[in-house]
Amino acid sequence: MSTQNWHADRLTYLDPSGIRKVFDLAKDLKNPINLSIGQPDFQVPEAIRQKAVESIQNHFNGYTVTQGIDSARNALKVREGIQNTPERELILTSGTSGGLVLALLATVNPGDEVIILDPWFALYPNMIRLAGGTPVPVCTYPDFDLPVNRIREKITTKTKAILLNSPGNPSGRVYPIDQIKALCELAKEKGILVISDEIYSAFTYEKEFVSPFRFNSDTLVVSGLGKSYGFTGWRVGFAHGPKDLIQQMIKLQQFIYVCTPTPAQHAIPTALDCDITPLIETYKAKRDYISDRLQVAFPHQKPEGAFYLFLPVPIGWTGTSFVAEAIRRELLIIPGNVFGEKDTHFRVSYAASQETLEKGSRILLEIAKLPPPV
Ligand code: PMP
Repeated sequence: MSTQNWHADRLTYLDPSGIRKVFDLAKDLKNPINLSIGQPDFQVPEAIRQKAVESIQNHFNGYTVTQGIDSARNALKVREGIQNTPERELILTSGTSGGLVLALLATVNPGDEVIILDPWFALYPNMIRLAGGTPVPVCTYPDFDLPVNRIREKITTKTKAILLNSPGNPSGRVYPIDQIKALCELAKEKGILVISDEIYSAFTYEKEFVSPFRFNSDTLVVSGLGKSYGFTGWRVGFAHGPKDLIQQMIKLQQFIYVCTPTPAQHAIPTALDCDITPLIETYKAKRDYISDRLQVAFPHQKPEGAFYLFLPVPIGWTGTSFVAEAIRRELLIIPGNVFGEKDTHFRVSYAASQETLEKGSRILLEIAKLPPPV
């Protein structure tokens, strides 16, 4: 008997991450120029590392309560401006991914529809399907704005939630405040839950970051600290939302993740006291460098947040063929079809050293001069 008989049907709902496919293609390269990585290239600030080590040495190595320790939750409540909001609750999660999984399992019934914006973060459609729901894509090309009227057209009696991500992966777009406000009003009018993935909120360069929570007090915010402080491997995420909903997520967490890693929980208040403005300024300079350098060959609107450029391929190429050529030249970037239905763009992560940015942009400019493949 084949061991495949043991595989559950739900695995067929999952489309393996295309990012992994690029890593597989690149695994034989000795010194790839890597503009594909979705995590910052800076070191975790010293005070935070020390606090985590101290926590291990002081024997904070066992389980905590499911929702996370009070000192960390209270510090996050202050940062999120919900310390005096008794109708809201906050849970520490296993990274932002863990928070998204709990959010979707806690809200999506079989047959429910969840609106997601194309291009999206690959977890969204996969986990919506795993929860038994149907992802309903809304196209945001070419400007990656929040198209409230197009969203309105996609709402049916089965629509349960709208999943937003601003600043966005892969677009780098930070939604304008008037669009967020209009979306929140639409959601309220229709009784639909807004789930807001705010993992890149610290990476906004000129516009102020605005959460939909400001206009819709029932918003379920899902976020994490890994990208902001460089400790993506510590799995520190959190979610806050209506108390009853967070209670349900706590119930689920008990059986799935149990708790956020304990030494990392203890380092959260220290992290929130760290001034990361200089790091964010460095990222703004990286964005300006690479966006300006690539503007003529790959015309685009300068992204206002996160650490990605999502660039159109030159005429005659697809995202896939363009990325294959880049990998032939040892440059790792991600084709746009990993993030949605179109294969017209590619994602560049500028979370890399200046040297890597210079080498990578030189290769991209060389490819742009080639005749397109036949
Ligand atoms: N949401 C978005 C938009 C992301 O880009 C990522 C990570 N690339 C995540 C969530 C997951 O982050 P975490 O490592 O905190 O689970």
